[in-house]
Amino acid sequence: MKTFEELGVAPSILRAITELGYENPMPVQEEVIPYLLGNDNEVIALAQTGTGKTAAFGLPILQRIEVQNVQPQAIVLCPTRELCLQIADDLNDYSKYIDQLKVLPVYGGSSIESQIRALKRGVHIIVATPGRLIDLINRRTVKLDQVHNVILDEADEMLNMGFTESLDEILSHVPTNRNMLLFSATMPAGISRITKKYMRDPKEIIIGKKNEGAKNVKHLYYMVNARDKYLVLKRIADFNPNIYGIVFCRTKKETQEIADLLIKDGYNADSLHGDLSQVQRDSVMQKFRLRNVQLLIATDVAARGLDVDDLTHVINYGLPDDTESYTHRSGRTGRAGKTGIAIAIINLKEKGKIKQIEKIINKQFEKGEIPTGKQICEKQLFSFIDKLEKVKVNEEEIADILPSIYRKLDWLEKEDLIKRLVSNEFNHMIEYYQDAREIEAPTEGKGGRDRDGGDSWGDRNSRGARERGGRGGRDRGEVFSEKGYARLFINLGKMDGFGPQNIIGLLNDNMQGTKVTVGRIDLMKNFSFFEVKEADKERVIQSLDGTKFAGRRVAVEQAAEERGGYVGRNGGNRDGGNVRRKPERSSRDGGRDGGGYKPKGESSYKAKDKKKGFPKKGR
Ligand code: AMP
Repeated sequence: MKTFEELGVAPSILRAITELGYENPMPVQEEVIPYLLGNDNEVIALAQTGTGKTAAFGLPILQRIEVQNVQPQAIVLCPTRELCLQIADDLNDYSKYIDQLKVLPVYGGSSIESQIRALKRGVHIIVATPGRLIDLINRRTVKLDQVHNVILDEADEMLNMGFTESLDEILSHVPTNRNMLLFSATMPAGISRITKKYMRDPKEIIIGKKNEGAKNVKHLYYMVNARDKYLVLKRIADFNPNIYGIVFCRTKKETQEIADLLIKDGYNADSLHGDLSQVQRDSVMQKFRLRNVQLLIATDVAARGLDVDDLTHVINYGLPDDTESYTHRSGRTGRAGKTGIAIAIINLKEKGKIKQIEKIINKQFEKGEIPTGKQICEKQLFSFIDKLEKVKVNEEEIADILPSIYRKLDWLEKEDLIKRLVSNEFNHMIEYYQDAREIEAPTEGKGGRDRDGGDSWGDRNSRGARERGGRGGRDRGEVFSEKGYARLFINLGKMDGFGPQNIIGLLNDNMQGTKVTVGRIDLMKNFSFFEVKEADKERVIQSLDGTKFAGRRVAVEQAAEERGGYVGRNGGNRDGGNVRRKPERSSRDGGRDGGGYKPKGESSYKAKDKKKGFPKKGR
């Protein structure tokens, strides 16, 4: 193995990465760094996140910057705001000892004015989400004619998010003799198209096998009747007291519902999906990063920006529609040399998908046995005892009260004390699992039909949303106007590289400093809906209608309801959308029994026990 010095890394950068604790190059760095330090070398690297790819492209591009020429010389394009900020942070860390080198992150959802001011002051490297960069190009506030390096990070994700046209447009503004580097965790057909169109004989570097899941991830599936899906999720969480993981759901609605149920049942969980505001999403991600939240229930899209290295578990609450998403989901555990477990809770109908995924990840799934109540109680007990053994005793703080405690407990033997301690902690769980029926796995090989017909609480809702969503409604869920909010139609959608951040951006840019509260946002393929307070409606329409986004004229109008679906007044429902109003009473308003969730045949915790359902951090 070579050292960073032997790879040709300059002393100023070497000093910075040594301070960061990078002793030896990671495999992707060993391959990519020397190659990129040479001239005219282009690279396609198939590497998962967590393999050290930021430094692999970051160190050589930093080293090739001419600091005295204060013009953008490299652009890094990435799919999300969070990744954008993280890459910019890393580049700043690596260039700590390169005087005057400026890295600027530009992304939607924050003031474009301050980004324009920073661009005017001069930058060398721009790290950008595609939509915002196009916006800046169209405003003629950024010049890319001196860019010699273009990096596409998480290129497959950018394609998934509909940024293909945006990438085409950005690349048309960059000199043709640029070097391009493309990093991707998977190799879908769209990537080959980009490489053929834009790259000159790139070197293909594969870290791990093509499309292979991370090596140190164990893949398990639990086959359950649909009605038991949620119960099995709880059992998995209970069986792994120190779990720190993401539960992926298929829709925003299902995500919120499962999170609500878990929270009600006393688990240390929170939700992350596109219906939350950016501020709410930031706050949830921060809590999760700090491990104040153990289980994050998320949609694929929302979880993209989240970079956490040490997840113990990734749980698929049902399998994603496209098998490649599975690779992304499971690649979030088993990072940075650690082991991880990817779990799929599936019904009989999804068994075929497991086979497809096995081919893609080139690994076999193991069949998970649903833990019994007894096994869970034992596991929890030992985890508790383990914590008890390791607890830090603060002698000084408790010295004063200990004598009276000793006096009070003097009549108890050691064995009695232990029994009481354990009972105090575990009676609720033992009672809970004593009352619970054991969960039976469905019988496989009987024609692939789910005996329950999908009639679980969580499944029924998500399925309903999918069916109602019609074409393109995979992640749509149901759509309705909040009370006091007006629903507006805008003629831009995912295909235009348009996202929630762009709506906020348009409002920031066109509302002359007046604050507008944005409610629910629903992005469709070719258009979107967003909600604003009824009182702001007219002003928002007047201010936004007729403005430009990525060179297109923006049309905003109040959404009209038609045949149960909202459309633009001028018939703008190009997706053939079939979007319903909120039902009279949704499960979110209090569950089907009005008082919270009570799984069939499995009693829920008593209210007083709720907070004990799942050991929270620090408890
Ligand atoms: P990345 O794939 O770029 O997100 O990197 C994954 C993690 O590995 C980050 O926390 C990096 O700071 C860390 N890292 C990258 N390169 C090295 C290295 N050579 N030695 C130790 N840690 C590294």
